Amino acid sequence: MHTAFLSIFLLTALCTVPGCKSKADPEVQSTETYTDTKVVYLKDTDLYTHIDSEKYKGSCKIDIPVKATGLSHRLALKPSATISLEMFERLQKWQSEVVQPLAAEHFGLDVSQLKVSASYSCRRVNNGSGSRKMSQHSYGKALDISAFTLSDGTTMTVLKDFRNEHSKGKFLRAVNKASCKFFSTVIGPNGDSYHQDHFHLDIKTRRNKEFVYCH
Ligand SMILES: [Zn+2]
Repeated sequence: MHTAFLSIFLLTALCTVPGCKSKADPEVQSTETYTDTKVVYLKDTDLYTHIDSEKYKGSCKIDIPVKATGLSHRLALKPSATISLEMFERLQKWQSEVVQPLAAEHFGLDVSQLKVSASYSCRRVNNGSGSRKMSQHSYGKALDISAFTLSDGTTMTVLKDFRNEHSKGKFLRAVNKASCKFFSTVIGPNGDSYHQDHFHLDIKTRRNKEFVYCH
C-alpha cells in the first residue's frame, strides 16, 4: 500500500506543469499498481460510491455498504451491485487474477461486462426454500453473476453455455473452478438446481477459514 499511496502523492505533488494529469484525471486512475512482486489494488473511488449504512442495519447489516458500477475501468457491472467494500475488493482481485487472464487465454479478449443477477438481498439461502440460514446476500457479502460479455460484444450465459464443449463452456467452467481460490463459497450449475443459471460467489466467514464450498 505504501507504494500505491506514494504513487498518488507523487502524481499530485509533481503536477505543476501544463498538460500534467493529476490524480483526479480518469486517464491516470487505475485499479492496479504494480510493485516488484505483487499487484497492489487501489480503492478506485470512481468504481463505487459509499451508500448510507443506516439503511443496511439490523439482521441484514452490511459493514461498509457500497454501490459498485465496475471492477476496473474495462469491466462494468450491469446492473450495479450493492455489496460490502470487502466484497468489492475481493471481486477486483478476482477479475484481475481469474476473469481477465482466462478470457485472454480462451478468447484473446477482455471481459467488458458482468451481468449481475443478485447482490444485496435480505433473505434466507436459496431464496428461503426450506433453509433457515440467512444468505450471505443479506450482508452484502455475495454476488450472483449470470453472464459474461467480451470486449467484442460476444456474450455467454451460465444457463446456455456452461456445458458447451467449445470455448464459451471451457471458459465458464475454468472461471467456476478458479474462483474457489478467491471466495469461501462458489456455486455454479454443478452445485444444485438453484444455480443452473448463475455463479454464486461469497466471502462467508467460517469457523474453519481454510474450508471452501466449491461446486
Ligand atoms: Zn447468490
